[in-house]
Amino acid sequence: MECPYCHTQQTEVTNSRPTLGETQIWRRRKCLACLTIFTTHEVVDLSHLIVIKKSGRSEVFNRSKLYSGIYGATIGSKTPDRERVVEKITREVERELLFLKRKRIMSIEIADIVLNKLRKSQSATFLRFLAYCKDITNESQMKRELTKYILGG
Ligand SMILES: [Zn+2]
Repeated sequence: MECPYCHTQQTEVTNSRPTLGETQIWRRRKCLACLTIFTTHEVVDLSHLIVIKKSGRSEVFNRSKLYSGIYGATIGSKTPDRERVVEKITREVERELLFLKRKRIMSIEIADIVLNKLRKSQSATFLRFLAYCKDITNESQMKRELTKYILGG
């Protein structure tokens, strides 16, 4: 990020928080050359993010795929406001992806981020998503994955 006063590239983020329902990120930056403090608003834009799938094939990040993956995992859940909850989790995942500042990411890494969010909300949804994205077919496999996510091991 360029300093708008002296145009050096050397600036640092001193504070940041999401705004407008977490689709924008507000940042306070400090120029390391002239020490001016200024504010930026950065919009969530993941259109340059390449997702590498388990098959090795890659594709551009697709928000609706992420949304439907999470939505599919919540089928049968008793959450009253399902669309809103799924939208919220989707936004949180997008925000986390943005903070990673990566150009390429494995689909399994995105799944991990989603699972971490689900783990904090509802366990039933979490379990279904886990089975869905990890192709889990037997109980011991499920236990291994669960240990990993729930116990952080
Ligand atoms: Zn400056």
